[in-house]
Amino acid sequence: MQKTTHYKTIILGAGAAGMMCAIHAGEDVLVLDHAKAAGEKIRISGGGRCNFTNMYAGPENYLGGNPHFHKSALARYTQWDFIDMVARHGIAYHEKTLGQLFCDDSAKQIIAMLLDEMTRAGATLWLQTSIVEVAKTDSGYRLVVEGGGKRKQLTCDALVLATGGKSIPKMGATGLAYDIARQFGLAVTETRAGLVPLTFSDKRFAPISGVALPSIATAGGKSFEEAVLFTHRGLSGPAILQASSYWQEGEEITLNLFPSSDPFVLLRAERQKAGRKQISSALATLLPARLVDHLSEELGLKSRLADQSDAALSTLCEHLTHWRLRPSGSEGYRTAEVTLGGIDTDGLSSKTMETKTVPGLYVIGEAADVTGWLGGFNFQWAWSSGFAAGMAIRARE
Ligand SMILES: Cc1cc2nc3c(=O)[nH]c(=O)nc-3n(C[C@H](O)[C@H](O)[C@H](O)COP(=O)(O)OP(=O)(O)OC[C@H]3O[C@@H](n4cnc5c(N)ncnc54)[C@H](O)[C@@H]3O)c2cc1C
Repeated sequence: MQKTTHYKTIILGAGAAGMMCAIHAGEDVLVLDHAKAAGEKIRISGGGRCNFTNMYAGPENYLGGNPHFHKSALARYTQWDFIDMVARHGIAYHEKTLGQLFCDDSAKQIIAMLLDEMTRAGATLWLQTSIVEVAKTDSGYRLVVEGGGKRKQLTCDALVLATGGKSIPKMGATGLAYDIARQFGLAVTETRAGLVPLTFSDKRFAPISGVALPSIATAGGKSFEEAVLFTHRGLSGPAILQASSYWQEGEEITLNLFPSSDPFVLLRAERQKAGRKQISSALATLLPARLVDHLSEELGLKSRLADQSDAALSTLCEHLTHWRLRPSGSEGYRTAEVTLGGIDTDGLSSKTMETKTVPGLYVIGEAADVTGWLGGFNFQWAWSSGFAAGMAIRARE
């Protein structure tokens, strides 16, 4: 092994949070990552255009064991701070919907911006480097890393865990941050896939796969109004991805297929006008025809509107606005956009992201038990928490 090299700060993970931290952490920073390129999740995010923040980001858009933990960091580096950086780099962007900001051209521009800022800050980046060992010393940390077939020994004063969560292992996601946290006696809350399609073992929606419509999906007492997509394996679309983060295995979800109108009023009016119409034909003017076929079979909708009493119509409408479904599972980390749970925030300072019990050890980004909604909120957490740790590390100088 070569001689030991010392850095003031070593950041594990060159993702969104790690790069942001490196930009602000002051001098003598080394960033390590086992991937071939930095910011791989940024590159694939938002369909290649990166939904880099949300204009309406606020503490209420996040889940975690402590509903207050993320407030401080989000308030000190806001969406407007990140938008300023994007604008300074001349990156064109637009609002797609609901405050979600995307690059006009490519997510690669965000990565180039962060790498450029890191270079300006003087940070060093080693890619294709694996972390073999991490240990505490009297004054900091000792690491053994391996890259290009060689092992190197490094020491540092401050160590930042920024290796993210478990989602999309194919892209290099690992549980390294959790393992190191446990090694140092920190608690890690149960992790599970979030922002993920839900599945049904009987593949009940396979015949209507591809049908999408605006709906309200509710899980765990939280409702989201956006599109729902029926898929071969179950349910997807933004409303389902959002609700999935509040769904627990074994629980029901509910779908309201009429988010902005009252089907009872509409069907009763239609009965008045055209009572001879089949109820399924009447519904097909309000919902996608393939979905109506599916519902007709499931609910046995064979009669004419005129044959429906108010009570019968009301029961049908109750079903359409409170459609109770019990998913058998989710697509899991293979496709999940985020990992729920993670390093327990009770063990972290909300101001600096430093652990309370292990001096000089910081946790940022998705590795911590803070998860955002769909719509740019997760990157905003990565920017805000990375900034908070970076500024605190710089202040140690
Ligand atoms: C398909 C997809 C699309 C997404 N789209 C959006 C979006 O549009 N907007 C949004 O806000 N959020 C989006 N997200 C979520 C967002 O990507 C993450 O929340 C965010 O990247 C978390 O940042 P992070 O820095 O904590 O972790 P990451 O960005 O995941 O970075 C972690 C880094 O650590 C490295 N690493 C991991 N394990 C090791 C190890 N053992 N050794 C060395 N290095 C390691 C990884 O290679 C990676 O570079 C998306 C996620 C996915 C999967």
